[in-house]
Amino acid sequence: MAEIPAGFFELETDRILDVFPTPTLIRLQGEKPAALFVSILLHGNEYSGLKAVQAILQKYQSHLPRSLAIFIGNVEAAAQNMRVLPGQTDFNRCWPGTEMEPNAETALMQQVIDLVTAEELFAAIDIHNNTGTNPHYACMTNVTRDNQHLAAMFNHIGLVFKRPKGVSTMAFDGICPAVTLESGKPGDASGIQHATEMIDALLHMDHFPQRDIAPHDLQLVQSLATLNIPDDVSFDFNLSAQADLTFEPGFERKNFTEIKPTDVFAITRVPRPLRVTNQDGEDVYDEVLRIENGKVYLNKTLMPAMITLDKYIVRQDCLCYLLVDYVQ
Ligand SMILES: [Zn+2]
Repeated sequence: MAEIPAGFFELETDRILDVFPTPTLIRLQGEKPAALFVSILLHGNEYSGLKAVQAILQKYQSHLPRSLAIFIGNVEAAAQNMRVLPGQTDFNRCWPGTEMEPNAETALMQQVIDLVTAEELFAAIDIHNNTGTNPHYACMTNVTRDNQHLAAMFNHIGLVFKRPKGVSTMAFDGICPAVTLESGKPGDASGIQHATEMIDALLHMDHFPQRDIAPHDLQLVQSLATLNIPDDVSFDFNLSAQADLTFEPGFERKNFTEIKPTDVFAITRVPRPLRVTNQDGEDVYDEVLRIENGKVYLNKTLMPAMITLDKYIVRQDCLCYLLVDYVQ
């Protein structure tokens, strides 16, 4: 699609199928030819990216400072306000580089990459939301100078990750600077504004700075471990609940705060209430956690991120990540 479709500016996700019945790539010509690629709604309920793109196109309409390619991802899930529909492929796990068996979605993302990389790209950003309360931050899968500058445009905290495979940002590594923007909870006004301002800046930039980033401009962290709750372990965010594993109700406020080895992380009545894996998918349970008298502790000071209290997402994705400072 080479123009903004009718009804786009008023579009809300519950009616998205009226305008975008299928995942859609919109390519708009601008003054500078190297295009900015923006993917939105790869997770259907994370609609801040749609609001940001609406604001940008409203502002520039037919006089874009730079060409813009917009990919509107999981419209079916978006219409239902779901991250992904039950049984459906996660649209941010099926990009080139994925470990998934080939299917309709891996073919679709390959087609998107082939189309947008046929011409020069300036940068690629993929806009997401968190379900929990988190600061805004960018994620990168390759620590290049350009990616660090790109991340620092969003916030002073950047997350480096190598897994899961098949995310959009990773598919652009080696092609153009690329980051994922985690812009707070869906619809959060400051997250939308922040993402909009970043797109606006990228539409005007001529090139990325040719110098290394100053250390105070970007703190890079990486995930040491992913915490999952096994399907046979019941859990609740209420310490008095009858469940195998319980967390305090304000658990999500621990996002991006340090948890010391003496702080109680959770309460459990089963011997191994969590699955703990590193970036390579290996079990690192005993390295990371210990249980003493029914209390779960971390073995070293770590910072959780992307904690969600949404039980469906905990089962479908994970409970949280545990971060440490990034070392090359
Ligand atoms: Zn997401």
